Amino acid sequence: MEPRKKCKGLMERLRDGETVICAEGYLFVFERRGYLTAGSYVPEVVLEHPELVRQQYEEFVHAGSDVVLAFTYYAHREKMALIGREDDLERINKRALRIAREVADATGTLMAGNISNTNIFVDTVPNYQEKVWQIFKEQIEWAVDAGADFIVGETYDKFGEALLAVQACKEFAKDIPCVVTLAAQQGQVGGKPATLDGVEYSEALSRLVDAGADVVGLNCARGPATMLPILEEAVKVCKAPLAAVPVMFRTTKEEPNFMSSKDPLTGELLFPVNLDCIQCNRKDMHDFGKRVQEVGIKYVGLCCGNSAHLTRSLAESLGRKPPASRYTPDLNKHWLLGKDDKLPLLGQDSKKKYAQTLSKVN
Ligand SMILES: [Zn+2]
Repeated sequence: MEPRKKCKGLMERLRDGETVICAEGYLFVFERRGYLTAGSYVPEVVLEHPELVRQQYEEFVHAGSDVVLAFTYYAHREKMALIGREDDLERINKRALRIAREVADATGTLMAGNISNTNIFVDTVPNYQEKVWQIFKEQIEWAVDAGADFIVGETYDKFGEALLAVQACKEFAKDIPCVVTLAAQQGQVGGKPATLDGVEYSEALSRLVDAGADVVGLNCARGPATMLPILEEAVKVCKAPLAAVPVMFRTTKEEPNFMSSKDPLTGELLFPVNLDCIQCNRKDMHDFGKRVQEVGIKYVGLCCGNSAHLTRSLAESLGRKPPASRYTPDLNKHWLLGKDDKLPLLGQDSKKKYAQTLSKVN
């Protein structure tokens, strides 16, 4: 095999003031496409249709992702046991990682290994700390073997589990950087948002940095509108680069996380399969990109609800021109909205009337 072309590392990019984009949200992508079951949410598609996983990695890079995040989210021992496929644990991890490495090498992007919430970090589960440690250990070791450039530990709604993830990265990934992010649900301490085990976020993120995390922040659970206020506080005290990886849904002050989001028409809870009606749009992503730059957040991503057009909008808001920008909207050529010389001459006045008729609100 040819030696890998050395691509600029995560920490070098951040130290040079560059913003790093990491597109993710694979579980929701493949669930929507009909290759993954909502509920158990195990990424079996990696084994059944690896060609689709490769294509999705490529699509996100095409749209502007600087990182190929290996799709090993929920490919851990507990989840594989839940669907009776524990025997496939190593195979699924290695395959997701190998394809991610290949796509990263072919596109000159970074490859990240991925560990996640285990859902067993609960004191009613016997020996839960040891079990979680073991899950982190094996997945991190596979990622290191596959040549991961960094490790992402994500979606921890308890500080204790995130801290264990940082410690496991330090122990098993050695000098490979780690990005560890908390999922901000609705915990509170002294009127401030906090992890479910009661640590206020600025403090939680600072303590993860003290434990050795290279980048810390929030992912999942909240959309851009309700995630950023927490990070705007954290940025004042946190000594490491911050990460913002929101879900692509319009969460609000009243319904701050997508588990609490309700259908604006019926009032019914939407999580997890009926969230489409509060999907973020491209303008939301553009505004999000502008805001993270103002706040000084350098690691940005897109979690559940992501798709290529949103990744491209975020990339373009940061001044990038990823390959997909070749096809970015050019409404000047739109038959009704555009003014391009080559459009048939409808006349601006008649076009205006036509447009007003079509967009009339009753
Ligand atoms: Zn998510």
